[in-house]
Amino acid sequence: MTEEKEEIKEKKEGEAENKEVKEKAPEAKEEVVKEKRSEFDSWKPKTILGEKVKSGKIKNIDEILDKGEKILEPEIVDFLLPGLESELLLIGQSKGKFGGGQRRVFKQTQKKTREGNRPKFATLAVVGNCNGYVGLSYGKSRETVPAREKALRKAKLNIIKIKRSCGSWQCNCGEPHTMPFAVQAKMGSVTLKLMPAPRGTGLCVHREVQKILRLAGVTDVWSKTLGHKKTTNNLIGACELALRNLMKIKHSNDMKIVEGAYEKSIQKEFESLEEIKEEN
Ligand SMILES: [Zn+2]
Repeated sequence: MTEEKEEIKEKKEGEAENKEVKEKAPEAKEEVVKEKRSEFDSWKPKTILGEKVKSGKIKNIDEILDKGEKILEPEIVDFLLPGLESELLLIGQSKGKFGGGQRRVFKQTQKKTREGNRPKFATLAVVGNCNGYVGLSYGKSRETVPAREKALRKAKLNIIKIKRSCGSWQCNCGEPHTMPFAVQAKMGSVTLKLMPAPRGTGLCVHREVQKILRLAGVTDVWSKTLGHKKTTNNLIGACELALRNLMKIKHSNDMKIVEGAYEKSIQKEFESLEEIKEEN
């Protein structure tokens, strides 16, 4: 009996701790929003588009993407799409000892000069909000860190919107978890076809393509590839083209297709913070 009581006590204590954590959570969020606010205030836009975003004339990134306007400042994407995640893809391989060949984030190349070898690093970054927006780009530099920064910056400028829906007749749940229809694209010899799959399937594709689709907000997909898929560069390129093709294909209105899924901008977060302050 005593053991049971002790267990119950421990459980209650655990619950109490959980409650404390839950109560603390909004304060932490407030701090994050405050940090963003200070960043937002210190940002000096250099383009007309940036000024429009800062003054609050543009509150939705769709307004920019639908017009096909070019984004030249990464801050625009940072503030219109909060909660962006990023990832680097394995496009290179290590060299040297023990045969090398292990997958690496940086692709290292060399130029032979009279003074000696001049190395250069390239990397490929993906950014996305896991909810319908992705972008990916290369970054190259003589050092690894600037290469990564360049890649992240350019990936934000390259952001695109994708279409999602429940395109599988086996599922019919109506939620946007997979492709609305099959799309295909080719780069080099590699052809990649992405097909709608029922819920719970997961991402049945190459591991690097999985990373892109996860950041795009697709959770279930079936795929088919042709050609020399070991060339990861071309496989990734084909995936990007296929996602771009999604927006080009027209569809009837009865298909429940979600284009992007834009919840709230940073401005709305600021407003909610101010409301909390006023209540207090
Ligand atoms: Zn479904």
